[in-house]
This record gives sequence, C-alpha cells and structure tokens, in this order.
Amino acid sequence: MQSFLKCISLTLVILFSAFSGCFGSNTTNQIVEQRGVPGGLLKACLHEDKYTSMVIEIDYAEGFEPEDSSIDLLQQRLDQICDKPDGITITKTKTVFEIDDTWTADDVRSEAYRTRGASPYFQTNVLTWHILMPAGEYSDDSVLGVAVNAADIAIFKSTIQDSENILNRPSAEEIENSVMLHEVGHLLGLVNCVYQSDIDHEDPEHPKHSNNEDSVMHWAIESSSIGNIIDGELPDDFDSADKSDLAKLKSGELEIDSQLWMP
Ligand SMILES: [Zn+2]
Repeated sequence: MQSFLKCISLTLVILFSAFSGCFGSNTTNQIVEQRGVPGGLLKACLHEDKYTSMVIEIDYAEGFEPEDSSIDLLQQRLDQICDKPDGITITKTKTVFEIDDTWTADDVRSEAYRTRGASPYFQTNVLTWHILMPAGEYSDDSVLGVAVNAADIAIFKSTIQDSENILNRPSAEEIENSVMLHEVGHLLGLVNCVYQSDIDHEDPEHPKHSNNEDSVMHWAIESSSIGNIIDGELPDDFDSADKSDLAKLKSGELEIDSQLWMP
C-alpha cells in the first residue's frame, strides 16, 4: 500500500503556482511549478547540462535532527550517482512544522512547499531535493519514510526509534541511515518508478521495491517491522541491478518517463 502511495498513486501531477513577487494576479506570466512523481527529477540528477550542482535540504523539528552518519552515507552515494561538477551539498536546518502528530502524504507536500529555503528547481541551476524530519508519525504508523513527489521526502524518526529491535541490531541510527537512502532511492526512480527495468528485480508483492534483501530498496527498509525481518547488518547501498538501471537510464538505453526536465 505504501509503495503504491509513493510511486503509483502520485502519477497525478500536482501543479502549484509560484507567484513572482507581489504580482500574483498576473496569470499570463505566472510560472507554474510541476512537482511530479518520485523519479521525476532523475534526469536532472544524472546529467550536468542544466543542473551543475545539487542541494539536499534537511529540515528537522527540534529533537529529530538527522544522524551525521545518515548525511555522510547519503553524500557518498549521491556523489557516485549524480553528475554535479559544482558539487552536492547537504544542509540541515531546525524548523518549526505546523504538524507534530499525524502526517498524510498531502501534509508532507504542503509542509515541504512551505518550509523550503532554496529556490525551486525550475528557477535555478541548482537541483534541490528536500527531506523533512518532523515530530509525529505517518498516517500509517508502520511507515518509516515516504517520498511524495519528485523532490520531497519525509522521515519519521520517532517511528524509527520505536522500530529498533530489542538487541539494538539494527540500531535506530542504522535504520535511519538506510531509510534515508531508501527514500532518496525513490527520488532516483528506484525500482521501476519512471521506467521498466530489463532486469527482473521488482518485488511483485511490493511494487516499486527490490526483491533483493541486500538492496537498500528492499521494501522492509521503510517498514517498522524491519527489526524483525532483517537482523544484524542492514543494506546501506543500491545493489548491482539498481545501479545497472541508473546507468542505463543515464545512457538512454532504458526509456524513461514522467520527467520534469530532460537534457
Ligand atoms: Zn520504499
């Protein structure tokens, strides 16, 4: 159900108008922002043509700051995947959200829109993806993280803390590391969000997720039952099938759809 939320049910493209300055009533010159589906800004990440740098903006509620190890892991992985000659920067900012109890996907979209500090992707040469780490939990409280459109994610740290298994293997910190990378993996279009792989690695029982327990895109990574399903080492990387998809999407060998920007 959640994967459905993340990839399929979001095919509806949400349009938000971005008023320029105070002249919002002038609709003829209004710039319309398309926020797309997870994977919708994959080409913008894989190519340097327009977006020469990238920012991952993490906004967290007090007490829900991301682990340094989550940021380091994300930095390492994105450096390997996204072609950004002017670099990839991950920022974190303490933020006050309007919601601190139960979040829906629409809440994540609207709070991401309201709290972002950077200019939206279509106004600059900086590709910005946005991670919210609020207090509270998702409306389905077994969910540790969600990707709700082409650039916005939420990570539910209190649910992650509750999911730590009794022996702390995996620990909450390790779960957060993997959940953050997993949700960014959906922004990278994994698995089969905006394309159809030539490798059979999507789990039919959990669409848009890997059938390989050793991939960070395995469905259990974002589920609160993670500690019961995977003990010990959690995957903290994409597997060879995921990486093959990304390489072929970059080269054009695999067709891609739903892109908000194409080189
Ligand atoms: Zn997922």
